[in-house]
Amino acid sequence: MSVTTAQALRSLLGGDDRHALAAIFGTRAHFDEPLAPYTSWKIGGPADALVAVESEDELAALMRFCFKRRMPWFAIGGGSNVLIGDGGLRGIVIRLGGAFAGIEVRTEGERVIVEAGASAGMAAVTAKAASAGAASIGSLAGIPGTVGGSLRMNAGTDREIGDFVQDVWVQSPSKPVAHPVTVQYFYRHSTLARDAIVSRVTLAFAKNDPSAVREEMRGRLVRRKDTQPIALPNAGSCFRNPDGDKAARLIEATGAKGWREGGAEVSPLHANFINNVGGASAKDVATLLARVRSAVHERFGVELQLEVHLIGVFVDA
Ligand SMILES: Cc1cc2nc3c(=O)[nH]c(=O)nc-3n(C[C@H](O)[C@H](O)[C@H](O)COP(=O)(O)OP(=O)(O)OC[C@H]3O[C@@H](n4cnc5c(N)ncnc54)[C@H](O)[C@@H]3O)c2cc1C
Repeated sequence: MSVTTAQALRSLLGGDDRHALAAIFGTRAHFDEPLAPYTSWKIGGPADALVAVESEDELAALMRFCFKRRMPWFAIGGGSNVLIGDGGLRGIVIRLGGAFAGIEVRTEGERVIVEAGASAGMAAVTAKAASAGAASIGSLAGIPGTVGGSLRMNAGTDREIGDFVQDVWVQSPSKPVAHPVTVQYFYRHSTLARDAIVSRVTLAFAKNDPSAVREEMRGRLVRRKDTQPIALPNAGSCFRNPDGDKAARLIEATGAKGWREGGAEVSPLHANFINNVGGASAKDVATLLARVRSAVHERFGVELQLEVHLIGVFVDA
């Protein structure tokens, strides 16, 4: 192993860091924790620490800890849009839960208002909002993951979550207490500051007939099942659609469907999905991503941009 690789794999947490985290979070601080189980791809090496945080006060304490000790951190939601390197992640991975999973839906005149914590699952949020008649919620149905991750990604289909955001509260090492921020939303990204972790969100929808909304949502979920390999470990679309075109169409046209690297396979059903068909490493997926990207470039002169976030240390598994 080279000196550089050894350095990249060395934990940033000293003994006193570990003691301090264990003192605050008890058994919710996990050390040298493999991250594969926390991702939809079921891939990823260990985090120096994975801390499950259950309230805004706890998150503020952890933000202060990171600030004082200059400790890098990374927020993971449902892990449905990340490829974590086989060498894992240095620093602290933060996973919100507890009070952050709350969802409240109410009607205000002709609007449906949804207040959700950042770790609330999109499945639960969309189901509850649909039952209250939130118009256009179907565009967010079937997106795995959490509200926090979806906000960072501006996840969506024909409409995106950013279209419905009324307020966002975040916490950060330099401003640990939850506070509202203004965010702009673009195709699969937003201006949310890199060092901000979303703690809660208010979404607002026009009100429609609940049974019509539920029916539309059901139709979209059925279409997803027919067109996406949702039963296999993957991270949805790997590449963003280039202007005026579809990444899946370009990839399919290169003949890449079914290409394999180790345990990773370009989905025969949806060319922009890469499935873990058994024991895939991050290196397998990254290699396949590079092959697909260069095939599309060679054939069409288009440089596909990644939609999935590549995180951590990429080394041989
Ligand atoms: C089968 C399948 C279908 C999919 N379909 C769609 C689709 O139709 N449309 C679409 O847009 N996406 C789709 N995705 C991708 C993915 O589900 C979305 O991007 C989702 O919004 C990611 O949420 P997450 O909680 O899993 O985020 P993660 O994957 O955990 O994280 C994604 C990014 O968000 C950041 N993040 C997570 N939580 C927070 C937080 N609280 N505060 C700040 N940053 C945070 C992470 O650091 C990371 O950079 C699909 C994925 C799968 C597996």
